[in-house]
Amino acid sequence: MKIRLARPLQSDSIVDGEGMRTVIWTQGCIHNCLGCHNPATHSFHAGTLYDIEEVKEEISKLKGQDGITLSGGDPMCQVEACLEIAKYCKSIGLNIWCYTGYTFEQLLDKAKKEPQVMELLKMIDVLVDGKFILEQKSLNLRFKGSRNQRILDVEKSLKHNRPYLIPKYKYEKTYQTPKEQCKYIYV
Ligand code: SF4
Repeated sequence: MKIRLARPLQSDSIVDGEGMRTVIWTQGCIHNCLGCHNPATHSFHAGTLYDIEEVKEEISKLKGQDGITLSGGDPMCQVEACLEIAKYCKSIGLNIWCYTGYTFEQLLDKAKKEPQVMELLKMIDVLVDGKFILEQKSLNLRFKGSRNQRILDVEKSLKHNRPYLIPKYKYEKTYQTPKEQCKYIYV
């Protein structure tokens, strides 16, 4: 099986989820968000095809990583391949974050026709969901680009069949004056 990636694996990231992470930049996205930070990842013909076994082997050599982050592009556009990678990562103790332009609710719908979407969701620890919305952009959000996006505990969301937001990521940093310490407001 193969996966189309926008670029090689990127290790030691501290901005794509909690801790030290290796990012898997998938190629291909259907969402076409206005102001997308990475439009070069939209095409399903660009990027490079990698054999999944090759990707797994690279992951097996990683040192000092807390987990992997499926990003892109949209990993939910290559569910089967991402599932294989996610299973392998779990088997060697890496946690999994995933960024997607779909909402959690849309993924549950998608899973009715594509059972592998549910299998993949079950492998994911944290899902950052929803399209990037330019009007809701903020540089003071942790691990996401716009306020509408949600950082979800997937296990709890699946258990209760509704999105469960992780409390510590629900806040936005704001500054009133340069001297004042930053404060956080509920997003
Ligand atoms: S989902 Fe992500 S990659 Fe896709 S268009 Fe939106 S911001 Fe860009």
